[in-house]
Amino acid sequence: MARYVGPKCRKCRRYGVSLCGTAKCAILRRPFPPGPRSMRRRKISDRGQQLIEKQKVRFAYGLMEGQFRHTYERATRRPGAAGNNLMSLLELRLDNTVYRLGFASTRSQARQLVSHGLIAVDGRKFSVPSARLKTGQEISLTDRGKRSAYAKMLAEEIVNRNVAGWLEIDRKALKGRVVTEPGPGDWEAIFNPNAVVEYYSR
Ligand code: ZN
Repeated sequence: MARYVGPKCRKCRRYGVSLCGTAKCAILRRPFPPGPRSMRRRKISDRGQQLIEKQKVRFAYGLMEGQFRHTYERATRRPGAAGNNLMSLLELRLDNTVYRLGFASTRSQARQLVSHGLIAVDGRKFSVPSARLKTGQEISLTDRGKRSAYAKMLAEEIVNRNVAGWLEIDRKALKGRVVTEPGPGDWEAIFNPNAVVEYYSR
C-alpha cells in the first residue's frame, strides 16, 4: 500500500515537532518550516490548526489518509472519548507495538521488521503492520528473526530502551506482551486527539 516516503523531516519541520522518532531530526538544525521564507509565518485558522493536528498524528504513525480516517471512524463507534479511542487503536497496531517494546528505534523501522517477516504474534509469523493487537497477545521474533544479524544487535540495544507502560517485556528472551489497552499518557503529549476529532466531525 502506498504511503508517504519522502524526506520525513520535511513533515517534522512543517508541523514544528519531531515526528520521525530519530535522534538526528532535521528540526534540531532547522527549526522552521521548509520552503520559501514567505510561507513560514502565515496566520493559521482554527480549521487549519485542526488539519495540522490531524496530520501530525497521521504522519507520526505512518498511515495514509484512507486508513487513518477508517481508524477514526472505528474510534467513534466505541464507548468513551473518540480522541482517546483513536490514539489507543493507533497504539495497538502491530508496527507501533514493536516500536513501543523497543524492538525498533523508529516506527518505520518497526514496520519494516513486521513486513519482512521477523515478528511473530503468539508464536506465529505476522507480517501485517496494521494488525491490531489485543490484551494478552505475545510479540516475539520469528525463527528467521532470531537468526538475523538484527537480533544480535537488538539483544545489546534493548537494555537501554524504554518500554511502554501497557506492555511488559522479557529483554533476555526478546519477548513482549500486551498487558492492558493503552490510555491517555501512553502516547506523546505533542498530540492533540480532540483537535483530530474536531477536524473530522465538522
Ligand atoms: Zn524528523
